[in-house]
Amino acid sequence: CGIIGVASIGPKDDVLAKITLDALKSLEYRGYDSVGMASMDSSHLEVRKCAGNVEKFEKLRRPLSMKGTIFLGHTRWATHGEPNDINAHPHLDCTGEVAVIHNGTVLNFLELKHDLISKGHKFTSDTDTEVIAHLIEHFRKLGMDNFSAFKQAIQSIQGDHAVLAIVKGDNRIFFSKKNNPLVIGLGDEMNLISSDIWSLIHVTNRTIPIGDDEIGHITATSIYAEKLNGEKIDLKSRLIV
Ligand code: GLU
Repeated sequence: CGIIGVASIGPKDDVLAKITLDALKSLEYRGYDSVGMASMDSSHLEVRKCAGNVEKFEKLRRPLSMKGTIFLGHTRWATHGEPNDINAHPHLDCTGEVAVIHNGTVLNFLELKHDLISKGHKFTSDTDTEVIAHLIEHFRKLGMDNFSAFKQAIQSIQGDHAVLAIVKGDNRIFFSKKNNPLVIGLGDEMNLISSDIWSLIHVTNRTIPIGDDEIGHITATSIYAEKLNGEKIDLKSRLIV
């Protein structure tokens, strides 16, 4: 599948929704049985998604009217759960405050899902991905800050992945990569993160590849990553222009 995240300093609404949608069009070659987007600012988090390709998504869900300073976009190639509207990404936790998009598989999702259900979590989809949103919710409820909760969720899942997550009230897009592609794009008062550089070139040619077992976050004006063992990474030294 293809994933894209966009973080901007201000609500350049139409521009951001269009950048996200254009990136999804260029990512469609990676899989397109379903498409979805999330938009967020300090007071709201909204998800629109459906089965079908980007063209159908644009017609049915009118994503260009979505508002916010942070956007996520996903084209799905289903591995767990049939291609339908509910199984399309982004996936939310029970509170509706956490949204996750995912390229890959969670091999131990059944075990995690049963455990979370026994703790009172209610699942809406048949995907493996949804457990990631509920894991973040679970660790936040234990009192962890958002990045720690994201890290714990990632440490809990097995399998190859590229994951992006956002949490209402937090201006960061959290990311993690293991064996599936992920690259940061540095824009003007805007940073992006995507499955490939081709989806970013209409915005920026300044890119930074993410390595395996690296985890971090971007905002409109900052980028941060560390290894899963906590070792800090000098992302800027990897800048490709
Ligand atoms: N395993 C996830 C799903 O089936 C993600 C698949 C993908 O990479 O598109 O929803």
